[in-house]
Amino acid sequence: VCGFRHLPPTRVCLNCHAIDQMEPERLAEVGGTVATFTIDRLAFSLSPPVIGVVVDFDGGGRYRCEMTDADPDAVRIGTRVGMTFRRIYTAAGVHNYFWKAKPIEGTN
Ligand SMILES: [Zn+2]
Repeated sequence: VCGFRHLPPTRVCLNCHAIDQMEPERLAEVGGTVATFTIDRLAFSLSPPVIGVVVDFDGGGRYRCEMTDADPDAVRIGTRVGMTFRRIYTAAGVHNYFWKAKPIEGTN
């Protein structure tokens, strides 16, 4: 109702407290900025080390995910990212995919 973005969706808006009035919004093509991050050298990843990032989307919305295609030593607060759909893991022959952040070339 008020335009506040929730990731993941919730029933009650944190901003205006409206209940069950969310509208889905596609963010796959919306850019964002790394608000904070951590490097985890022990957690499993298909492309270790795990770079855990919190992304602030342009126009609002905060999301925690893994960063991919990135140099762990080059990640900074303020790094510009876009979203990409990638494999997270494979279990019992089933591939599981979800969204990861990827640095946008030429911006940092
Ligand atoms: Zn609201």
